Amino acid sequence: MNSTVCPKCGKETGKLLGTVCKDCFFEQFHLAELPLVLHAKMCSKCNAYFNRGKWTNIGNAENVVNRCVENALFVHKDVEDVEICIEPRQLTPYMYRVHVEVDAGIMGEPVHQELDTEVRITRESCDMCSRMSGGYFEGIIQVRATNRVPTEDEKGQCIAIAKNVVHHMQKKGDRLAFITDSLDLKEGTDLYIGSNNTSNHICRAIVEEMGGSFSESPSLFGQKDGKDLYRITFSMRLPEFMPGDVIHFKDRIIEVTNSPRRINGIDLSNGSRFNALPDEMKGATRIAQRSDAVTAVLVAIEDDDIMVLDPVTYKTITIKKPLFLAAQAGDEIAVLRTEYGLFALSGANPE
Ligand SMILES: [Zn+2]
Ligand SMILES: [Zn+2]
Repeated sequence: MNSTVCPKCGKETGKLLGTVCKDCFFEQFHLAELPLVLHAKMCSKCNAYFNRGKWTNIGNAENVVNRCVENALFVHKDVEDVEICIEPRQLTPYMYRVHVEVDAGIMGEPVHQELDTEVRITRESCDMCSRMSGGYFEGIIQVRATNRVPTEDEKGQCIAIAKNVVHHMQKKGDRLAFITDSLDLKEGTDLYIGSNNTSNHICRAIVEEMGGSFSESPSLFGQKDGKDLYRITFSMRLPEFMPGDVIHFKDRIIEVTNSPRRINGIDLSNGSRFNALPDEMKGATRIAQRSDAVTAVLVAIEDDDIMVLDPVTYKTITIKKPLFLAAQAGDEIAVLRTEYGLFALSGANPE
């Protein structure tokens, strides 16, 4: 084996690291450096971390401490296979002791270093939380329904969809994705939203899940950095007809079985299927709901007709046999009294 002399210490060595022997090399080599004290700014409400002029949600206080240490840790640029282990230990909610171990390799030699630091946390309100507590909003979503009032279930469903959309947008780093306020009104619900973009996403998600449509009307409310700021009112209209509604449309009596996007149903007078777009339903009126049904005794079945005892007049009347009828003569079946006569309801909803 060739041996050379270290130009720095004069010792004989089998291998030079760079220009000096191993001992001389590691005497001056620092694998990693870390300040003894670090400062991290966190939101006292949502735990967002303030880093490089921006607030971001990266998880709990321990995640923030780890990130703060990672950002401050300097590792020698020539090393390979770097492994960093960060162990934070909470002393108080505002102070963590952190032990760091760094392993790497340089010119075929393994190197290891241990460091300790202290992370001091200051807590204040982030951009999002201070906007929310100040009542800031850009978009108002007015949830209403066409020719009726939204049900409590529908209002709850819209709020749940809004929260879900906001949650996903926040996860992607949108600091204006929040709900400032929600007002429960007789005619529906008003949602106050941090940005118009978020409002638009919420309305699209509601249409996707519940049907209906929305329109936007902007109004100028101020300027920021020379740019006009608009507030947009989103008029959200839930569909007029819901599953379970019985409607009168072009001389047909239709029980609605499915309503978002397309209106599907069964014609109660002959059992045929009904299918139309909400836009095609001009002139349709709701005459009853499936829940208004009463029971009547089935007297006899004859081909496509059945005879039932009218529960009010006690007269036997002949009506069309519903699409799905499992009952036998003598059984009770569900019928609906309407201004257009008596109709038997299907035992099961198709589709
Ligand atoms: Zn040397
Ligand atoms: Zn916050």
